[in-house]
Amino acid sequence: MSDNKMLAARLHEAKAPLIIEEIDRPRLGPGEVLVEMKACGICATDVHTALEGTVPTAYTPITLGHEPSGVVSELGEGVQGWRQGDRVAIYPQVTCGTCTQCREGRDGICARTRVLGMHREGAFAQYLAIPAKNLVRIPENVSFFEAAIMTDAVATPFHAVTRRGRVRPGETVAVFGCGGLGMNAIQACRLSGAANIIAVDTSDFALQRALKVGADVAVKAGTEKTYKEVATANGGRGVDVAFEFVGVNVTIDQAVRSLRRGGRAVIAGIGPERINISPPFFFVYNDLSLIGSFGSDIVDLENLMGLAALGKLDLSASISSVISLNEVNQGISDLEQKVGHPVRIVVGME
Ligand SMILES: [Zn+2]
Ligand SMILES: [Zn+2]
Repeated sequence: MSDNKMLAARLHEAKAPLIIEEIDRPRLGPGEVLVEMKACGICATDVHTALEGTVPTAYTPITLGHEPSGVVSELGEGVQGWRQGDRVAIYPQVTCGTCTQCREGRDGICARTRVLGMHREGAFAQYLAIPAKNLVRIPENVSFFEAAIMTDAVATPFHAVTRRGRVRPGETVAVFGCGGLGMNAIQACRLSGAANIIAVDTSDFALQRALKVGADVAVKAGTEKTYKEVATANGGRGVDVAFEFVGVNVTIDQAVRSLRRGGRAVIAGIGPERINISPPFFFVYNDLSLIGSFGSDIVDLENLMGLAALGKLDLSASISSVISLNEVNQGISDLEQKVGHPVRIVVGME
């Protein structure tokens, strides 16, 4: 392959496999950095985009992948503070920096956001051009695989728990849906000082795994009365905060019902159903909050790197397997079919 070419896994049309092909290496604009990719996690969003066609991309063909880490390879005009060879994680949204949310530091909901692999070229490729402001340094003791999944699979629940749910020491929480996001939410709840963490899922496997990463109690979901079992696991009281990582109305309803009076439910699962919960009689009378939580801010990723540097983040259970770029279609389909109960399948680029 010539010097200015690279391999990339590209979506040409939904519901068809990504095509792994040779394309031009990206050219750098001012303020951008060329990063040689080392790892990129496969997200449920890739399943929605590639296999289901329910999450459209801004254009095709487009390189997917929005959970990247790598090494700085080339600096564009005007870039300061970075050197060739620096190990970096990449915040997956390119933000405008000037909308109200950006000015508030809420990058995750920038009015003009451009998400990698959705609105601009993604990271299932050997190289990625990205604004230098999106880079976060990886501590020495953190691997490229861990750093990659931190950008989304870990940062998204961390944001939901610390910024949207604002879990405080001593609070009790229920985590509905203990797949990739829920698993990492449990750890964020633990770090936030939650006193009782109740894992709720329909899968025994997921519940066992949740207990291993720090949940105090496991509740098997699937009945109309799941919320009562949550209360029972919480000494007969509703919980202070419930998190929902499934994106299904039934689960959202159960999460809201599991709250104590004054409690808050944070919804981070994404789905097409209309949210249909209790009447205002119940919702208003009990002073409840229903909070959406999307993605993360770059400062969440910075904070996570700090925790990882101190050895306070254990991601050993969060990486299920590492595959090559050539196997990316298999990885996406394994995630969809939940083959081997994957938390995160990571594409390694070497
Ligand atoms: Zn994602
Ligand atoms: Zn903005």
